[in-house]
Amino acid sequence: MAKRKVEKFSFDYDIAASIIDYARKVSEEGLTKGTWGNISVRDGGYIYITPSGFPYDKLTPKHITVVDSKGNKVYGELAPSSELPLHIEIYDKRADVHAVIHTHPIYSTIVSITLQEIPPIVEDAVMILGERLFVSEYALPGTKELAKNAVKSLGDNHCVFLKNHGLVAVGENLHEAFVATLVAEKTAQIYIEALKIGNVSVLPSEHARVLREKYLKSYRQK
Ligand code: 13P
Ligand code: ZN
Repeated sequence: MAKRKVEKFSFDYDIAASIIDYARKVSEEGLTKGTWGNISVRDGGYIYITPSGFPYDKLTPKHITVVDSKGNKVYGELAPSSELPLHIEIYDKRADVHAVIHTHPIYSTIVSITLQEIPPIVEDAVMILGERLFVSEYALPGTKELAKNAVKSLGDNHCVFLKNHGLVAVGENLHEAFVATLVAEKTAQIYIEALKIGNVSVLPSEHARVLREKYLKSYRQK
């Protein structure tokens, strides 16, 4: 009988270092306060993820934990982020995603407690994030239910607002997930401010579709 090939794990310091770089950026941009939020990268069958409840400014590569696609730890002494089920569920359902950033930014959180979605209002948001950006149904943090609800509302988009909680942005890499985080928060702010004035102009859905397709097929350079 042919032997099953066992993949041997070797820790990639560059991946861990780039997660720490982006953790610092997230913290510097004020997208999350204290130890909240989490960041991961998928590399082949493994997920590198920030530890749970650990200060961003104290992170070094050895604090990053690595799990396999089922969540079994293969590297690290600290507990992985409590939102690991969310990260696993996203990677499981979205083959195009290799980085996930979960934050608690102010305007995205306001959207998550007041609205069900943001319609297509500004071009960069439509192109980078999706036509309609949804708020997922509420579930307790760290649960499989939260993970399922988030992935359902994420669909093919690049961000989803978690009800009464915050934001999740995804990308092919950390840079893309970080830009998606910034654009989602900016769009949330624009929409909240615009609603105070009223008469918000929404892009026709046929234009929104063209913009999103253009971004995914040709604008985004590899
Ligand atoms: P961790 O500190 O466990 O990564 O998670 C905090 C959080 O944002 C829970 O939703
Ligand atoms: Zn959270």
